[in-house]
Amino acid sequence: MQVLYKSTRGKGETVTASMAILKGLSEDGGLFVPTEIPKLDVPVEKLAQMTYQETAYEVMSRFLTDFTEDELKNCIANAYDEKFDTKEIAPLHEADGEYFLELFHGATIAFKDMALSILPHLMTTAARKNQVSNDIVILTATSGDTGKAALAGFADVPGTKIIVFYPKHGVSPIQEKQMVTQKGDNTYVVGITGNFDDAQTAVKKMFNDRELSAELNEAGFQFSSANSINIGRLVPQIVYYVYAYSRLVGNGTVKAGEKINVVVPTGNFGNILAAYYAKQMGLPINKLICASNENKVLFDFFRTGTYDRKRDFILTTSPSMDILISSNLERLIYRLTGEDAQKCAELMQALSDGGEYTITEDMKKGLADFYGNYCSEEETKEAIHATYKSSDYVIDPHTAVAAGVYKKYLADTDDHTPTVIASTASPYKFTRSVMDAVAENTEDMDDFALADRLSEISGVKVPKAVEEIRTAPVLHDTVVDAPDMPDTVKKILGIK
Ligand SMILES: *Cc1c(COP(=O)(O)O)cnc(C)c1O
Repeated sequence: MQVLYKSTRGKGETVTASMAILKGLSEDGGLFVPTEIPKLDVPVEKLAQMTYQETAYEVMSRFLTDFTEDELKNCIANAYDEKFDTKEIAPLHEADGEYFLELFHGATIAFKDMALSILPHLMTTAARKNQVSNDIVILTATSGDTGKAALAGFADVPGTKIIVFYPKHGVSPIQEKQMVTQKGDNTYVVGITGNFDDAQTAVKKMFNDRELSAELNEAGFQFSSANSINIGRLVPQIVYYVYAYSRLVGNGTVKAGEKINVVVPTGNFGNILAAYYAKQMGLPINKLICASNENKVLFDFFRTGTYDRKRDFILTTSPSMDILISSNLERLIYRLTGEDAQKCAELMQALSDGGEYTITEDMKKGLADFYGNYCSEEETKEAIHATYKSSDYVIDPHTAVAAGVYKKYLADTDDHTPTVIASTASPYKFTRSVMDAVAENTEDMDDFALADRLSEISGVKVPKAVEEIRTAPVLHDTVVDAPDMPDTVKKILGIK
């Protein structure tokens, strides 16, 4: 069966998987969605015997149908290798009766590595398949983790350049240090004076700017996106839900076909959408539990059916979830409309014009797959503390938002279905907030002293990603205002 990709807004072309990966966004501003969600037609007992890489092939080959077996297997082999510090790639850690799916064992110790270590390979393969001769310029807005993971993935990949914009005052010191020390002749890192949404909005605008794209083409470049709207990011993220389920069957925690719940700390709605697609493929998932921080726009949406971004943007200790416009939600909205692209386009237009939209009662019924809740800053800190006290396991603030929301879910529903919590970052990426929650007298310690102390407390070695930046020189120090982003891009590419 061939799976093609069409736009959520209905005016763009329907394209192959490789073209969708190259384009990132459809020309009508919509997101690419598969014409059909393929079924996972492999018995779970068989999946339980497979490695992460083998599972990745089974899942991804169902979606990326114009890649040959060799091409896809090569991409997978190049992505999920020694860059990960465990052979399992995404291990499950049981603590307190819950299963933490650790998605932070890659190069930058956050879950973005799961997709961004394979995206450059998918993209350069896609370029070859489609006789693209332009250099690919990856343009990315980051709330902290995407940026470094994309830089690490694309650095020195021939035929590509990568430009990353991040909110100068909206990421953790370790996140910033990770980015501004990035090596590679094709890497550019730029701070902006606004917040993540400003950066993301400006990036989206550049993608839709025909004049700019013509200028680029003339100079031998074309944009593509490494943001989580790219289906080349989404598809690899489906894999680890299948993998986690098959491990639970393999170790006897659940019987084949028995349902699990999944809790996902959510920002741009990419990770949880991947879990939703896994469910549509046939993976036995009961509830998709969507966890937000104080930027609880999604919680309010699930409760009321109104998505309203007109509110203050709050800086929290889980910065990768400080988002008011969850881009990937558009793909869910599209499905809720019954794949009515015109209706979807209208809602997205309302969001961009007036800052809100409301879905119909009928569409709201489709939200039954989801449960949404949020954690305050205090509750997040308490969740880190509680998990550490009960099981000596130290979790990062993003994962803690999920763990805290899961406790609320249990209290609300008394549903004790076995549950997987997506653990999206290593605590070493957010040592300050983590140590605040689990240790005393840490105010005067710098980030590296904190990391050493965390290692003593948790018994987990300081990861290589942190060791490497202790002494690395700053290589990028440009800061611009959001409106100046297009000029910055032209300057970087040498376009007048
Ligand atoms: C990006 C990120 C999230 C949010 O994931 P989305 O796919 O944007 O919803 C959560 N936690 C961490 C650590 C992240 O980097």
